[in-house]
Amino acid sequence: MPPQNSPRPLRSKHLLAGVAGIAAVLLLLASDVRAFDTVILDPGHGAHDRGAAIGYVYEKHLALDTARRVEQLLRKEGLKVIMSRSRDVFIPLQDRSALGNSKRGAIFVSIHYNYNRGGSGAGAETYYHFSNSYMLAAYIQAYLVQRSSMTNRGVKSANFHVIRATTKNPAVLVECGFVSNSSERARMMTGEFRKRIAEGIAQGIVAYRKAD
Ligand SMILES: [Zn+2]
Repeated sequence: MPPQNSPRPLRSKHLLAGVAGIAAVLLLLASDVRAFDTVILDPGHGAHDRGAAIGYVYEKHLALDTARRVEQLLRKEGLKVIMSRSRDVFIPLQDRSALGNSKRGAIFVSIHYNYNRGGSGAGAETYYHFSNSYMLAAYIQAYLVQRSSMTNRGVKSANFHVIRATTKNPAVLVECGFVSNSSERARMMTGEFRKRIAEGIAQGIVAYRKAD
C-alpha cells in the first residue's frame, strides 16, 4: 500500500538502436543477472503495521499468504527462496532492503495489496526503481494480469524504499489488487484467487529467468 505514483511511459525495448548499440549490448551483458538462483520474497507490512485494512481484511495477511504460495511454487521450480518474514512480525524497511542486498545472484520481490480512498481503484501494478529491474517487473506484471484477469495498471517506476535501497539485485514491488475495492476484496478473500495471483508472480519470475 505505498502511495500512488504517476505512471511513466513504458521504456522502449529498443534501447540498443543507434550508435551506442554495441557498447549498450556489452553493458547489458555485463549487468545481466538472470542467472539468479535465489528469490528473496518480501511480504509487505506485519504485526502492528496492517497495511491496507477494510474490516477484518488486512493487507499484511494477504501479502504473507500470497508470498508463501509463491515460495512453494518457486521451490518446485528448483529455485532457492528467502522470506523476509514467514510470520506476522514487523520488519523495518531497512532490514528488508538489507536482506535484498545480502546475497549475490538473487532477485527481490516485495508483495503488497493496494488501497485508495473511495474504493474506485482496481487492478494490478508492478513497480521498479532502477532500470535493471524493469524487465523483471514487466514479466511479473504480464503473467500476474494474465493469470488473475485483473485490470492491467501497468509497470511503473517509484521511489519506494525497498526497491530504491535494494541496489545489488533487481528489485520490484507488486501490488496485487485493491483491498479498498469491494469486488476485488471479495475475490482476494478466496484462496483460489490468491493462488492465481501467486501462480502469476511465480510464472513471471520463471519466464524472466528463462528469457534471452
Ligand atoms: Zn503495502
